[in-house]
Amino acid sequence: MRIGVLGLQGDFREHLTVLRSLGIDARDVRTKEQLDEIDGLIIPGGESTTMAYLLERTGMLSVLRERGAQGFPIYGTCAGMILLARELKDSSPENRLALMDITVKRNAYGRQLESFEADLQIKNIGEFHAIFIRAPKVVRVGPAVEILAEHEGTPVLVRQKNLLASSFHPELSSDPRVHQYFLEIVARG
Ligand code: GLN
Repeated sequence: MRIGVLGLQGDFREHLTVLRSLGIDARDVRTKEQLDEIDGLIIPGGESTTMAYLLERTGMLSVLRERGAQGFPIYGTCAGMILLARELKDSSPENRLALMDITVKRNAYGRQLESFEADLQIKNIGEFHAIFIRAPKVVRVGPAVEILAEHEGTPVLVRQKNLLASSFHPELSSDPRVHQYFLEIVARG
């Protein structure tokens, strides 16, 4: 199994480190040709507007949109969640993948809470110490979306078949279990 991490912008190195610590063949992906060489993709945290622009410019956006709709596994963390969301509230990086039936609001946890940490209960995983940085807030989930964890009543880890998204950054906790959960989605096809 080979996992790609979108390496156009953002904290992709941290994801590579976690994957490699699990013995996974992981590489950063910057061209649409490289998408042919991987079994699943992680879209890291960063700046969703910049990433959206670069995805479009490299031609990766349309390829990923098509593959994601056909079952290719994609996990979006933070900015990656924004790119996966079908709908955004109050702002619009225009060139999104728009694959997942959720609505998110960017930078929605308020000024004092720009960054915070919280212990979550994740379905099938258990307690997980999560780090949120200018996180998007999920304000709606569609019927096909499974909520795997919530923070104060708001979904923070969600899954729709081959697609996984978190508003927090598991690559910054020294705990690989959310990555392992994504690897299981990739392995089971
Ligand atoms: N606020 C960022 C955005 O809107 C996401 C923050 C993050 O990825 N840590 O793109």
